[in-house]
Amino acid sequence: MEQPAYQAALKSAAQMLSRSDAELDKLMTPDRIIQADIAVQLDGGETVFFPALRVQHNSARGPYKGGIRFHSQVDVDEVKILASLMTWKCAVVDIPFGGAKGGVKVDPKKLSQLELERLTRGYVQAFVKHIGPNQDVPAPDINTNEQTMAWMMDEYSRIKGHQMHDFVTGKPIALFGSKGRELATSLGGKFILDLMIEHFKITKRPIQVAIQGIGNVGGGLAKLLGLDPRYKLVAISDSQGGIYRPTGLEVAEVFEHKKTTGSLAGFHYSHDITNAELLELDVDVLIPAALEDQITADNADHVKAKLILELANNPITASGDAILNNRGIPVVPDILANAGGVTVSYFEWAQNRQGWYWEEGEVNGRLQKSMLAAGQKVIKISEEKKVSLRVAAFLLSLERVDQAMHLRGKLVGHN
Ligand code: GLU
Repeated sequence: MEQPAYQAALKSAAQMLSRSDAELDKLMTPDRIIQADIAVQLDGGETVFFPALRVQHNSARGPYKGGIRFHSQVDVDEVKILASLMTWKCAVVDIPFGGAKGGVKVDPKKLSQLELERLTRGYVQAFVKHIGPNQDVPAPDINTNEQTMAWMMDEYSRIKGHQMHDFVTGKPIALFGSKGRELATSLGGKFILDLMIEHFKITKRPIQVAIQGIGNVGGGLAKLLGLDPRYKLVAISDSQGGIYRPTGLEVAEVFEHKKTTGSLAGFHYSHDITNAELLELDVDVLIPAALEDQITADNADHVKAKLILELANNPITASGDAILNNRGIPVVPDILANAGGVTVSYFEWAQNRQGWYWEEGEVNGRLQKSMLAAGQKVIKISEEKKVSLRVAAFLLSLERVDQAMHLRGKLVGHN
């Protein structure tokens, strides 16, 4: 696995803030890694074990927080990176959580709904001692959704013997999830995109955008761009490949085509492209919104976009990031660009604890305020210190996490 971009940025930020190697080491190491094999009885009666884990990175600023993914590629090193990103992400947007991430090594497409339900309940049973509304609050991530969260909430409440809505976020509205949560990562990303377009004075209209990924996050942003005449979506992909039309894709028709044919390929008046080709298109804005490690030393030289917005977690490796920096292509880092999801997760948790629910306009208004406050701070630091947006975001979040650790007496030895 290549070094992720965030580790290089965290090191630079730590050096600029004169942090010792011992402190940096502490900040890079998770507090706890919990692993279990989850036994699931398949519909045919056979029992299969699925390796599962939860990595709790840092809780200096509040309960651990982060999603749980179901994916055949899940491994401990990857989940450690993702857990750490959650710590820095929550600190950038200044919400009272630490960072965690969980995963189950499974191809969920191979399981029935009942098998998935048993696996999800098994996850809660395996980790129940370590998770909870004041301890560690799970949420959806890749291949998990509001139904997964509903099962988790139900299982946790069953074990504890009373109703605990605040145990997970990203629940269905009917089970007191938050209005606006489903679209929150995409909407938060759109607020940051608008801010960056203005900051980098990209005056061309319409702005051509390519999105890698049409899941909840990438697909949500595609729909938002379709409503804003300043932007034109020219390319989008799913895990099998993508489509490209330089004059623009009709967003609603793309979704209809995928729904009826099960694929993006063959969409009218567009070219079929691979995911690798999408990353190298001549567009104004490139938005990786799928998996990790998409832009590396192998392809960063071929990226033609003028701005990159990381809606996925960890889509660019350290060597890819260094090349983009040298080429002067600004990258809006994941810990800022995709923080809208966890921000509204915080609103959901707060609403659950109060038992008092907000209208969607209030949720979105508060989200906008949080995202813009964080985005403007990151821009200011990057201009003042003459560093990339990624290093600026780490300077901001590192100071916040570090301060919390010092005040708690958990980190010593810097001036
Ligand atoms: N999985 C999402 C992320 O990576 C959301 C996490 C959450 O809401 O806790 O940011």
